Amino acid sequence: MIKRLFKRLFQPSAAKIASRKKKQVVPRVVEVAEHHIDPTLVSNNAVRVTKTLQEHGFAAFIVGGAVRDLLLGVKPKDFDVATSATPEDVQKLFRRARIIGRRFRLVHVMFGNDTIEVSTFRAGQTEDAETDQHGRVLRDNTFGDQKADAERRDFTVNSLYYDPATQTVVDYMDGVADVSEKRLRVIGDPVKRYREDPVRMLRAVRFAAKLGFSIDAASQAPIKELAPLIKNVPAARLFDEMLKLLLSGHALACLKRLREEGLHHGLLPLLDVVFEQPLGERFVTLALQSTDERVRLGKPTSPSFLFACLLWHEVLKLWADQRARGETPIPALGIAMDQVLETQTQSLAIQRRFAADMREIWGLQPRLERRTGKAPYRLIEHLRFRAGYDFLLLRCEAGECDSELGTWWTEFIAANEAGREELQRELLTRGVLPPAAKKRRRRKRASAAPREARGAADAREGTDGDQKGEA
Ligand code: ATP
Ligand code: MG
Repeated sequence: MIKRLFKRLFQPSAAKIASRKKKQVVPRVVEVAEHHIDPTLVSNNAVRVTKTLQEHGFAAFIVGGAVRDLLLGVKPKDFDVATSATPEDVQKLFRRARIIGRRFRLVHVMFGNDTIEVSTFRAGQTEDAETDQHGRVLRDNTFGDQKADAERRDFTVNSLYYDPATQTVVDYMDGVADVSEKRLRVIGDPVKRYREDPVRMLRAVRFAAKLGFSIDAASQAPIKELAPLIKNVPAARLFDEMLKLLLSGHALACLKRLREEGLHHGLLPLLDVVFEQPLGERFVTLALQSTDERVRLGKPTSPSFLFACLLWHEVLKLWADQRARGETPIPALGIAMDQVLETQTQSLAIQRRFAADMREIWGLQPRLERRTGKAPYRLIEHLRFRAGYDFLLLRCEAGECDSELGTWWTEFIAANEAGREELQRELLTRGVLPPAAKKRRRRKRASAAPREARGAADAREGTDGDQKGEA
């Protein structure tokens, strides 16, 4: 009896469930009077793509982050199109179109330097989808209708479809309301959706930080417990997501939030340590602030520079360990860099080209301390000098080296020949040993000692011997 009463009171009636389902099948179509999307913010190329597809009888919409940004009045950085056409259909309709992707087959339609990514409506997870033991979906590339496509997306605000021809937004998930309330809501059961793809937890944090949205309670609650699942995501995918996060213009806020949620462990295993060291925290904070500023000003940014910053204090620590074991400075730095990169590449797949740049930026640091003789002239010609110098300025700002060093380099870069000589003379009057006296000693050792040891000796003494032939 009580059970029946309870059921009647708290369980939704069949009619209610049916009406809820119906609500989802028939999407809300939001007109321009309500959404206020400014058509001048929409890419002409994206419009060309939807128009061509529609003229050939296919459904086609601008979709995903672009619609979210348009609703917020922000110019989207890229445009994705979703369509009922198959990748082959799409390819046939455009002159420069390429089918890409293994997990999902997409078409890149190219106009000059601009690329519009076109994907066929896809269905979400079926019951028999192939998963790993934690529920992570390994393959999900079945086509579906638009509703299925809306349901398989991550957040309601990313599941909106804009038709430039009618200037309407098609909304299956109440995403328009969530945009206006600045709320991130996972589509479906958050636990299940995070298990299917743990990267969605990182995306939640990134969007929350970047857009200034809150994460709704049900979507937020499971993150702490499920955070360790990030470890099962393939490293290359994590690296891509990490890059998006670091170059979002809100990297500092993102990383702070990641730490709060316990999500940083699988990403940068050493980040924990970095933030715990006062100097490390200051340095990383400054580096992230400066990157965020560059992104917001539309200036170019370098992933290798940023990763070099994030991992610098780990390099410093291992460098000191090596030296304490009796290793000479430059080989010790080489070992420390290897160790750091090895640990990081296992979890994050820092690509080789970035790793090479990072090594150069780190390797330039001791060399920037040598300012006598020909050394600074050679160093300034080094391919990565600018990055190494910017890195030095950050170190000065963080208080880990004398700001005089940074200022000296700034002046040296700007000065003409005579000015540079004067800057070097000033150094000598301030007590830096004349290079000539040292050079003699170095040459003697140079002929007998192996190359690496030579560099180490030079580094110890502050001369420029290890740069011969490199710059
Ligand atoms: P950004 O502004 O960072 O590009 P975005 O929302 O466009 O944000 P993308 O990574 O470009 O993000 O993805 C495009 C769209 O694909 C998303 O808006 C979302 O609908 C869908 N999507 C991306 N990643 C996932 C995922 N892991 N699970 C479900 N849907 C996803
Ligand atoms: Mg996008």
